[in-house]
Amino acid sequence: MSKITTGTKEWAFKNMNIYTGCYNDCRYCYARIFNVGRFKRKSVDTWSQMDLHEKNFLQNHRKRQAKEGEDKAMYDYMFPTAHDIFEFNLDCCITKLWKLLSPGNTVLITSKPRLPCISEIMRQLLVYKKQIGFMFTITSTSTKKLRFWEPNAPLFEDRLNALQLAYHQKYITNVSIEPSLDKNPINIILKVAPFVSGKIWLGCMNWFGWIRKLGPQGEEAEKFYNFAENISKLPHIHKILTDISKLPKVVKDKIMLKDSIVNLYKRNNHRRVPQL
Ligand code: SF4
Repeated sequence: MSKITTGTKEWAFKNMNIYTGCYNDCRYCYARIFNVGRFKRKSVDTWSQMDLHEKNFLQNHRKRQAKEGEDKAMYDYMFPTAHDIFEFNLDCCITKLWKLLSPGNTVLITSKPRLPCISEIMRQLLVYKKQIGFMFTITSTSTKKLRFWEPNAPLFEDRLNALQLAYHQKYITNVSIEPSLDKNPINIILKVAPFVSGKIWLGCMNWFGWIRKLGPQGEEAEKFYNFAENISKLPHIHKILTDISKLPKVVKDKIMLKDSIVNLYKRNNHRRVPQL
C-alpha cells in the first residue's frame, strides 16, 4: 500500500548545498524560482552558472544527534537539494560528502545522475556505503521533453544506467518522478521499478505562473507549458493513480505520493487521496 507523505522532510532531517545556481537549468526548478524570481539573487541568464558557497563547503560536521522517537528510516542529511553533481564540481561534492559521512551521518544523495559521477562517488566513498542512499530524479522518457524542461541534464537512458549501476552495487536506490513530465508515468515506473530497492516517489508540477514568467517565451514554449499544466490537473492525476492501482503489487508497493499530489487533492476538496 502506498503512503502519503509531506515532501522532502520525509526523507532527511537536514539539507545541504554548496552552490547557488545549477547548470541543469530546469525550467520548473523551485530553487531557481526562489533565487531568481522571488529574491533576485541570480538572473535567468546566470542561474546555470554555479557559485560555490564557501561557508557551506568549508563547514565541518559532527554526527547529528538523534531525537527521541524520531523516524529511524530518515537520513541525517540530503545532499544536494538546490544544485546537482557534475563532472566539473565532482571533487567538491565528494569532499563535502566525506565531511558529512565521516562523522557517521547517513546521507541521501539526490541527483539527475551522470553515470561517471555516480560511479566515482561509489568508488571514493565505498567505505561509507551503508550510510549512503541514492534518490535519482527521472521525470520523462522523452528526449524532446527533457531537452525543454531540463536543458542540460542527462537523458533518460543515461539516468537509467546510473540507477542500474547503483542497484547492482547493492546501494539503496530511490527514484523521484517529480514533476512527472509524461502523459502517463507508468512507462517510467515499469522501467525503473526492477532497479529500485527503496521507493518510487510520484509528484506533479506547480508554480506555472513563475515557470512561464522565467522560462522561454513563444508558441513552441507555450505548448510545453500547456501540456504540463493539463497533466498536472486533478482529473488527469486521478486517472494516473487509478492506472497505477492496477499495477502488480510488487510495483505498487514501491510507489509513494509526494505532497504536490496530496495538496492537489486537498485544494480540490477531495476527501481522500485514493489508496493505490
Ligand atoms: S537539477 Fe534540481 S536544482 Fe538543478 S536546476 Fe534542476 S531542479 Fe533545480
